[in-house]
Amino acid sequence: MEARRLLIRGIVQGVGFRPFVYQLARRLGLAGEVANTSEGVVVHLEGERAALDAFAVALHREKPPLARITGIETETAEVRRVADFNIRTSRRSGSRATLISPDMAVCHRCLAELFDPADRRFGYPFINCTHCGPRYTIIDDVPYDRPHTSMRHFTMCPECQAEYDDPADRRFHAQPNACPVCGPQVTLCTADGRPVAVKEPIAETAIRLKSGRIAAVKGLGGFHLAVDALNPEAVQRLRRRKRREEKPFALMVPDLAAARRLVLLDPATEELLASPRCPIVLAPRRPGNPVAPEVAPHNRYFGILLPYTPLHHLLLRQGFQALVMTSGNLSDEPICIDNAEALARLGGVADDFLIHDRDIYLRSDDSIVRRAAGATRFIRRSRGYVPEPIALRDRLPPVLACGAGLKNTVCLTRGAEAFVSQHIGDLENLAAYRFLEKTVAHLERILDVPPQIVAHDLHPDYLSTRYALGRQNARRIAVQHHHAHIVSVLAEHGLHGPVIGLALDGTGYGSDGAVWGGEVLVAEAGRFTRAAHLAYVPMPGGAAAIREPWRMAAAHLDDAFGDGWRRLDLPLFEAVPVERLELAAKMARSGVNAPPTSSLGRLFDAVAALCGLRARVHYEGQAAMELEMAVDPAAEECYPYRVAPGEPLTVATAPMIRAVAADLEAGVPASVVAGRFHRTLVALFVDLCRRVRRRTGLEQVALSGGVFQNVILLEGMIQALKGEGFQVYSPEQVPANDGGISLGQAVAAAAMAEV
Ligand SMILES: [Zn+2]
Ligand SMILES: [Zn+2]
Repeated sequence: MEARRLLIRGIVQGVGFRPFVYQLARRLGLAGEVANTSEGVVVHLEGERAALDAFAVALHREKPPLARITGIETETAEVRRVADFNIRTSRRSGSRATLISPDMAVCHRCLAELFDPADRRFGYPFINCTHCGPRYTIIDDVPYDRPHTSMRHFTMCPECQAEYDDPADRRFHAQPNACPVCGPQVTLCTADGRPVAVKEPIAETAIRLKSGRIAAVKGLGGFHLAVDALNPEAVQRLRRRKRREEKPFALMVPDLAAARRLVLLDPATEELLASPRCPIVLAPRRPGNPVAPEVAPHNRYFGILLPYTPLHHLLLRQGFQALVMTSGNLSDEPICIDNAEALARLGGVADDFLIHDRDIYLRSDDSIVRRAAGATRFIRRSRGYVPEPIALRDRLPPVLACGAGLKNTVCLTRGAEAFVSQHIGDLENLAAYRFLEKTVAHLERILDVPPQIVAHDLHPDYLSTRYALGRQNARRIAVQHHHAHIVSVLAEHGLHGPVIGLALDGTGYGSDGAVWGGEVLVAEAGRFTRAAHLAYVPMPGGAAAIREPWRMAAAHLDDAFGDGWRRLDLPLFEAVPVERLELAAKMARSGVNAPPTSSLGRLFDAVAALCGLRARVHYEGQAAMELEMAVDPAAEECYPYRVAPGEPLTVATAPMIRAVAADLEAGVPASVVAGRFHRTLVALFVDLCRRVRRRTGLEQVALSGGVFQNVILLEGMIQALKGEGFQVYSPEQVPANDGGISLGQAVAAAAMAEV
């Protein structure tokens, strides 16, 4: 007979962990007890050694679906000769130190009950249990107890209370537990906020959607705008009203079988789609699918997701093949979460509102992922993943990192864990700024750490920088944008560095005040040097050049040909009058309102415009994405470029632009030009890595920046670098784009503070 004491840390509260321990101990014939404490879950066990060992193994192998164990401390304890195994119920069921689970999709057992006419929750859109349902979005404080959630307004009926109190029940201490008798209810309203008197609000919403109307549907982390994805007029109307011209819409389908009819799925992608985190997954569209082309113009992919709330399941099973489910907001504002706010802000967009009375405390957009180069890649890391921490190599002082200007997230560290927030979005309006403030306050509250260091971008005008500069009682540290990109990769892979960092993106404020974005760094957490970069080219019109790629084409033509470009005959000239190009070229040469940039994103823009693919964009990165979509994989050969010696090395792109123009004049299709351009970039950056390796001896390469959302480039670069003997690291836990910046800022600032 032996006794052991286990302290288990992680996501172990509110996820059915104690009932699991209870049942496991009984199965193995062990006596003792389990309790929640302020440090985590504490288990006292007594029994034979073999059974104790079996317990330790099964603890990991069989833990409940939402549980995540981040640490177990085991020590020998005194044998008390207790007879039985018990759950010690504390008055408080949670503690401040334990982690909160992300919001998770409804589990298969709840789903079975939802569609079982004999079940007391048959058709009830708020069914949940300890294995599923809302978490992060409904709490406003820790510990995770019902009074700290938006369920505090609902008093459980005797039947729900009995489940809640029974350690053997799946709903033991399920904080959002509810039923049709005692829980939240749905209501269908028209755009003026008047309730529609119907017995079946969900069925009525479905009927209206089928007639082509637009519905605002309250979900887990905010409102969606929904239309029938097979109805082109409805999709067009949604685009018009939402003022979203071409950015792809996500599709929700009833089940995997329906997904397979719309997109091509490999097993790994299918697993991702069906996971309880339920992200939007990008997958190649199936030829001949019935979805309206307006859903994702000029795109080879669909963003597709399965229903994740019981409400979604009930709605989708009303006979839809696919619903457009896009964020309930106007263009770039944060997603709506509040009923009154939704009616006010979306009243001009949606015809009907399917709302309910369980409040959302914290908005969280759908996450977006894809499979590429053998791993899951985040485009947006939000609902279903946040607030799960990213494990760090070292313990850090508490750092708050305020993120970038676009695709903003913030990050707070506690010990050796980094908590990257949900997607906050583009900090270009007051609503987004308020959301940032609220998210920071929320993270500080639920993690219970006051930051000692506040990290921010070098850009003086970012709202995230201004927020950071307004923080008192903390040391403020600026971190260069591309340095942060590379350190985010070091952080998630537990690397110390220095490494060669390829930071390739659209825009980031450089240490010299220029707009960087085609950078080869030698970087470690606390410092970096710029080893190589694309030669500066002016951006005629500044920010206007981002919205109008033809401006970058003009600048590159001027750079490559001087005045000679007018004699060329290029597809671009059909889309943009030569006089406008001349004006932009003149602006570029004068340097007035034409800041220098080394951005690879802008080079993509220029080539896409030269090819006649896109002269103006409707959303960030559109031209680059369409150039990627255009690639003919069979295209061979590379374009020339010139590396100028020096520290840093600079890469002149003029030879490349001249060759692109020659191809286009010779009638080479844009798809082949796009293919050659991609091959050239792989060759070019591998060449630069080799040169830096010769000088520094470094063998590890970290890839980051929004350009690596380009799958052809990501996969091509990884393969080519490995072929040259490099060890390659790329973003897998946070986005390669600016959504990952806050993680890098936090770790970089902590290292810089030590010096
Ligand atoms: Zn469940
Ligand atoms: Zn009830």
